[in-house]
Parts: sequence; C-alpha cells; structure tokens
Amino acid sequence: MSLPRIPWRAWDGPFTADLARVSGGFGLGQVPARLKPDGTTGLVCGYCATGCGLTAHLVDGEAVNLSPDPRFPVNQGMACPKGWEALAALEAPDRATMPMLRNPETGAMEPVSWPHALQTFVSRMKSVQQNWGPQSIAFLSTGQICTEEMALLGALFKFGMRGLHCDSNTRQCMATAHVAYKQSLGFDAPPYTYADFEESDCLVFVGSNPAVAHPILWQRVLQNRRHPEILVLDPRRTETAMGATLHVPLAPKSDLVLLYGVASALIRRGAVDRAFIDAHTRGFEAFAAAVSGFTPERVCAEARIPLDLFETLVERIATRARVSYWWTMGVNQGHESTRTAQAIINLALMTGQIGKPGTGANSITGQCNAMGSRLFSNVTNLFGGRDFADPAARLEVESLLGLPAGTVPTENSWSYDRIVDGIESGAIRGLWVIATNSSHSWIQQRRFNELLGRLEFLVVQDLYTTTETVQRADLLLPAAGWGEKEGTFINSERRLGLVKRVRRPPGQALSDFHIFRLVAEAWGCADLFREWVTPETVFEVLKRLSRGRPCDITGIDGYRAIDALGGIQWPFSEAMRDRVLDHASGGSLETLPETRVAGIRERRLFADGSFHTADGRAVFHHSPPTPVPEPTDEAYPWVLLTGRGTSSQWHTNTRTSKSPVLRQLYPENCYVEIHPEDAARIGLQAKGRVRVRSRRAELLADACITPAVQPGQVFIPMHYRELNPLTLTVVDPHSRQPSYKFCAVALEALPPG
Ligand code: SF4
Repeated sequence: MSLPRIPWRAWDGPFTADLARVSGGFGLGQVPARLKPDGTTGLVCGYCATGCGLTAHLVDGEAVNLSPDPRFPVNQGMACPKGWEALAALEAPDRATMPMLRNPETGAMEPVSWPHALQTFVSRMKSVQQNWGPQSIAFLSTGQICTEEMALLGALFKFGMRGLHCDSNTRQCMATAHVAYKQSLGFDAPPYTYADFEESDCLVFVGSNPAVAHPILWQRVLQNRRHPEILVLDPRRTETAMGATLHVPLAPKSDLVLLYGVASALIRRGAVDRAFIDAHTRGFEAFAAAVSGFTPERVCAEARIPLDLFETLVERIATRARVSYWWTMGVNQGHESTRTAQAIINLALMTGQIGKPGTGANSITGQCNAMGSRLFSNVTNLFGGRDFADPAARLEVESLLGLPAGTVPTENSWSYDRIVDGIESGAIRGLWVIATNSSHSWIQQRRFNELLGRLEFLVVQDLYTTTETVQRADLLLPAAGWGEKEGTFINSERRLGLVKRVRRPPGQALSDFHIFRLVAEAWGCADLFREWVTPETVFEVLKRLSRGRPCDITGIDGYRAIDALGGIQWPFSEAMRDRVLDHASGGSLETLPETRVAGIRERRLFADGSFHTADGRAVFHHSPPTPVPEPTDEAYPWVLLTGRGTSSQWHTNTRTSKSPVLRQLYPENCYVEIHPEDAARIGLQAKGRVRVRSRRAELLADACITPAVQPGQVFIPMHYRELNPLTLTVVDPHSRQPSYKFCAVALEALPPG
C-alpha cells in the first residue's frame, strides 16, 4: 500500500512555520536531487556496504523506480534484489509520520507535536543527568545513516549534551576488523579496491559467503579472467563454497588454529617474502615461533579436516602469484575474532601479499555506512580515527571545530555490551536508539529486552512504528529514510558515495540530520554547531577534520565531485587532487576527462609498504587459541551457527519485509538447516518442525534437511526474531564484538504443522 501523496507545498506549509520556531531558522527540507536531462539521478544503495550505484527515475520530483547504474564503477550495471526494491521500504503503511509519546496512564503511544516531543526529550534526558550524573544517558546508533548525520550526532552528544557512553550497531559487525587493522596496520584501513576481486590468482574466503551476503562482489569474482583458485574456509557448504575450487569444511571456531597452521606450513616450506618482512613489518620472528607448534596433524585434528585437504590448501596459497584474503562475519563474530582477523592479516604480511593488484587482507564490510561510522561518528574514536585519550588529538579537534578547551571528553565511551551492563547496574538510565533494532539483533535478547524495561526514558528514532525496539519506547521520533535525505556513505573499499533525496518523507518524518539539529537547538547547545547547517556544510567540516590523517578527503570538492566521478575512495587529499588536475591541465574534478578518471577510480593502499604505525611497519599480533565458551555436551549436543539467509533479506528484516517482491524470495517462517543424518537421529520428517533449545531460550522452526550443514551443526538465519533469545553474551576481548557464531543447542523433532 502506498502512502497518500502530499504536494511539496502542502507539506512545507504549516509544519514549516511550527518547526522554524524550534529550529531557530535552520530550515527544513533538504533540496531535492539535481536531475539529469532524462529525468533521472544517481545515488548509492542504502542497504549493504558494497555501495552499488542506482539510478532513480523520477516523475514530478519523486522517484517511481530504481535501476542499477551501468556506469558506476562498483556494480557496473548490476544490483541484488534489495537494491532493485529499495523504494518499497519507504512506502510501508507502518511508517512513523508523527512523534509519538507513551501515555503513562494508558501505556498507549499517542501522537504529539514536534515541539512537544523535543521538549519532552530534553526535559527527561536532562532530568536523568541531574539525578544520576551526566554519563547516565547513552545512545546506540547505526551504520545505516549518512556520515554527516553520524558526525553531528556524535558531536551533539559528546560536546553539546555532555554525554559519554555511546556505540553503534557496527559493534555487531565491524568492530573486529576495525581493531584488527588498527593494531596491525596502524589505522583502520582496508587496503583493497574491488578490482582486486578480478585481478587475484587465488581468493581465500574465510567465514564469508559473498554469493549471498555480497552478491555483486561475488559477480566481480566471477568476472575474474585469471582462472583463480577460490578457496572457502567455512563449516557450512555455502553457496560460495559450492562455487569454489576448494572448500575446507573446518569445525566451527577452529579458524584461528587452521590459519596458524597455514602460516606455520608456509614458513616451513619457505613460502614467505623475507625481503618484505624485513623491510616493512615487526614481530615476525615471535609470530613464527608461536605458530611453529601448529603442525598439520594438530591442526587437522582440531579443525576436523583430512590431512590431504590441508596440504592442498597450503599448496594453492603457496604457489599462486597473487593471493587475496577476504573475511566477513564468520570471523568478526567470534569469541577470539580480533586475533583471527589478525591471523589473516599476518598471512598477507608474511607473504608480501598486500599493496599489489589482486592481493590484500581484506575485510568486507556489512552495513552501507559502517565505514563512515568507523571514521567519522565520534563514537569510539575521536573524529578522523583519533584517540579520545590523546591530549594532542583533543586539542587539535577543539581547535579545528572552534570548541572551548576541555569540550572533548578525555575518556573513551563504553562499548555496546558495557552500555547494556550499565543499564543492568543502574549506571545508564536514559537511552536513545537511532535507526537500529536492538530488541531483535542484540545477543541474548530476552535479557536485553528485560533490561530496557529498567530504563527511566527510552527514545527510539526510526522509520517505522512497529519494530521490536519501538514497541518498548517512551518516545518515538519519526525519521526519514534512505532516499528521503542527502549525505554520504563510505563503502567497503573506502569509496565515498552520495545519497540523495528522491522521495519526500511521509507526514512529519524528518531526516536524522534535522532531528539532531532540532535536539541541539532544544537542548540549548546549537551555538556549538552554527557551521553544521546542512549535510554538505558538515562534509566540509569533516574534510577539515581529516586533513593530514590517513583518511584525508580534503581534495574532494564537495558532493558534485563525488557524483561526477562515481564515488571517490579515501584518501583523496588536496595534493592528490591538484596532481590529477595538473595532469588534466586544470579544470575541476567534475569535468575531468574519462582517461584521467580511470586513474583515480580504483586505488589500493600500502603500495610502498609503508603502514600507519609510528615506525611505518605493520605488526604481527597473535595469541594462543582459546576454547569455545559454550562447548556442546550431552544435554546440548549441536552447535548453532547463524548468518545471512538470502540476498533478499537484510538484518532484522525491518525494511526488506516491506517489499512484496522480496517477501516472495525468502521463507516467511524461521527455519533451521539440519543434516540428513541428524534428522534421522531425532526422527525428523521432511516438512517437519523442530524445537531448538539453548540454555537461555527455545524456538520453533521449519526443518530444512540439507547436507549443506555438517552433522552435529545446525544453521538458523539471523533475520528471524526467534533466533537471538538463544544466543549467549560472549564478546571478543579486544573488539568487544559479540560472538553470534557458536552456542550449544538441543533439538526435538515435531510433526509438520
Ligand atoms: Fe544494495 Fe548491497 Fe544489493 Fe548492491 S549488493 S544493490 S549495495 S544491497
């Protein structure tokens, strides 16, 4: 069902007057996108971090359809089902169109005006701070909003509202890659460009299923003309494993042992790049000594794979000229995930497979703007990848932003799990949740939702009135979605892409950017943000904050340049821009001839072997593997694996469930994949149902009997709300990222029904 169409002018009328009073004249609507002569405009997709370019087809100023952009360098005219159907999420009947406040007497959510909502927000959050201290409020945000919005939120909360503890749902997907890169390479800098998928002789996918999770990137692999080896390390025979030249079905969470075993075997056969190690790294000898005990026999016993399979894996890695390593959530969401990611980085470093075409230790990011969050959200890092604990960095940021001395907090905020613990201890009493559905997605969900009930004030800012988290809110702030606002995203290969306003938000929904501006005004701290007027002026602020940093974007001449070039990868400093323009005999980035555009379109990092550590050397990090936190036993004999189900589903299905097309492409009911031997063992019939029970909760699921999972393991997609009550609270000690990939469960067959 479509929302009623309201003419622009009608929407801008009385509501503008009402809000102008509150917003202090910051203005309301962002300018609708500039159109090409054919009535279209390009923007990047708002689901995953592949960052595909889409073409919006507009009628009367509003997008009526989307198609993949054949000229965009990322997707080259391809899109997955989510991209094709991205507009459907904006048309849902459960869109939030008014602020809603819970009536304390009836418990019902009732519509209120924006001024009333803002006054309530401010008075109740300030009351919590007065009663319990400034750090008793927190926010949980997202990798789904624009970089400029994240930046404004982080600045508003920490500099204006004087809060400290905040985190984002990127903790659930990319914290591990962030910490691993930062420790190993000196900065959170994924080194690759998507061309590396096509230029590699051997692609090693660890805990990664791009055929489903990143289907356009998988298409780029399939375009590789070098007849590459595709080696997949995954307990499941995933769609990617089915298309591989070698599948290594290792035991769940034996990845660190296996990777150390591969490193040890490569060292023994001399398949290392000694010159690169000596010139560009630190700590190799200690690493070599640490992994020497990971003999093939030990590794194969612990990973439960045949010896000849292990030897084939090593042989193929050792003998191909260009080897690239790719990882995603199978690595990031483990109990020792940072060291596992660094074991992958170590393999690339010791073999000199980094900084050259077709190589790299490459984390594939999840959400469309997780990379923006990692660099510019001011949540766990001070702007531009700086450290809150560094006095010089604080001074520099205060100077760049014109902030009074002492405005920037001296401590890092708590991670997501510690904020949840803080709710339990009473340290956190007010929570603001922005564009994420924590009540579905956080681990050990029943505990999380019980804790939400202890808050004195829960604000949720979202597109919809129906998410599990919104159901628990005291105040709902209605937000515009992707396609209804403008700003930038940063994709997995560090490419900044542009999001444009091609639809009008429904009712009184506002862009997150606008909501943050209004909160700043109502809070009384808007003077700190006089320069942060529009997303594009904030982009200029971010450029200034990036100057001289590894993520320097000072050479990007505004949104028009990003639009004209099909996105621009960081770094892109003024010096880089000037070199490009000199070669092109002046002009601007927007008018750059195609021959010159090609030179800056695909860029990888570390070609000179110089890393971002103090001495320029990459570091080998390693630790002994540790046992899984919840091993199987007699009572709970199966391992529960989780992951993405289909290319048509996104995370908690909040948006993808709005599309009738996408709903046809995935099973409606929660299902569990179970091996035929296990099905026979518990007496499970085809089309039967299964009760899956962990120590924390149980669920009912449709049975999917398949040899894609191994005996003793079951798999449930993460998109179903039934799943996360079963998962357990375990996080990696370095990244604090939750371990979603392993817990012990029991199964019981039920008749079809
Ligand atoms: Fe969008 Fe990702 Fe699909 Fe591309 S692959 S269309 S970015 S969801």
